[in-house]
Amino acid sequence: MSGRRGTNLPRMGDYNLRVVLDQIRRSRTGVSRIELSELTGLSAQTITNLVTRLIADRRVVEGARHVSGPGKPRTMLHVRPESGHAIGVHIDPLALTVALVDLSGAVVDRRVQPLPPTAAETVDLIAAEVRHVRESHELEHLHGLGVAAPGPIDLDAGRMVRPPLLAWGDVPLRDLIRSATGLATVLEKDVTAAMAAEIWQRHHTLRGTTLFTYLGYGIGFAFARDGELLTGASGNAGETGHIIVDADGPPCWCGNRGCIGIASSMDYLVEQGGDLGLLEPWDPSLPPWRIEVRMERLAALAADGDARARDLLEVCGRRIAHGIVLVADLLDADRVVVGGANWERMRPYVVPAATEELGRFGTMRDLHAVEVEGTDLGIWVGAVGAASLVLDRALSPHATALLSAAE
Ligand SMILES: [Zn+2]
Repeated sequence: MSGRRGTNLPRMGDYNLRVVLDQIRRSRTGVSRIELSELTGLSAQTITNLVTRLIADRRVVEGARHVSGPGKPRTMLHVRPESGHAIGVHIDPLALTVALVDLSGAVVDRRVQPLPPTAAETVDLIAAEVRHVRESHELEHLHGLGVAAPGPIDLDAGRMVRPPLLAWGDVPLRDLIRSATGLATVLEKDVTAAMAAEIWQRHHTLRGTTLFTYLGYGIGFAFARDGELLTGASGNAGETGHIIVDADGPPCWCGNRGCIGIASSMDYLVEQGGDLGLLEPWDPSLPPWRIEVRMERLAALAADGDARARDLLEVCGRRIAHGIVLVADLLDADRVVVGGANWERMRPYVVPAATEELGRFGTMRDLHAVEVEGTDLGIWVGAVGAASLVLDRALSPHATALLSAAE
């Protein structure tokens, strides 16, 4: 997101207010009124009026005076982080994570709970978590609740559509959560939310074409260009679990072998660990959190030098890396960010394999480098992203805001 320019037409006040607030938010060291005028293309007088409104609304404060060369020192403007918050919730088979995020993108509070077995119990738990967060913090302005959930999702209806990772069927999740919490609720696919977290947290530097790879209980991808999400016709881009990454890989329920979804799943790794005698025998009735406990043991065995555990994770790392390279090529990405609950365990096996394959086979290897890096947000990336989407919709200048301002 390079920041949008303003418009000097009349009756565009709210849109321009968002443009200015967005530019101030993006500037970590503060920005002066003159710089705002240059950045937005708005006249000095318009900037003065808008900044006066933002200061009166206590969204923005004046900071240090900055002297550069002759002339009047410039007063730097900063957002007041505590002037706005959003709550983000990530529904994942492994856990329910909750994050309270302020206007600067900082995580003010975070909590994690086991995910209940049913959608109804999960909605109740989310309502209780939201109550707890609201009681624990004095929030000047709560912009709403963002919910990240496994795809596919009918974004218009706010429904989960038989997500393969949760046996909940079709659930009108957004409306159920909105009535249970009384908050404006945004429902988004988990990987898209994770990509949004990267954009909101790193809005100063996230240029070019970015591929986010979410490695949790399963795998998913999301895409952005110059800080704008690319989400496809129904908002479900990246639901690509059936990309074949190894023709000799494990059989998938779709009838093929070696699909990335099955080959990278915790279920498959833990089952293999059981077959090799490294873990207890596989039991398909295990709840996801118990599968993750076994996954943790498998990763610890590999880290301690157990050759069979290492081989297993190295093969998996190469398969994931191959999938990442295929998708990075498809997108002509110059940055790959990886995160999710299984990322830290798989990082030592995925990064070297992906770096090697990109260097040897990446189609664009002679044109540009492709960086592979981990998210800084750990297991919180989905919840932080869901909150970021709420803040983005409430505060950032989007074309829809311009249209409604013009009505
Ligand atoms: Zn498949």
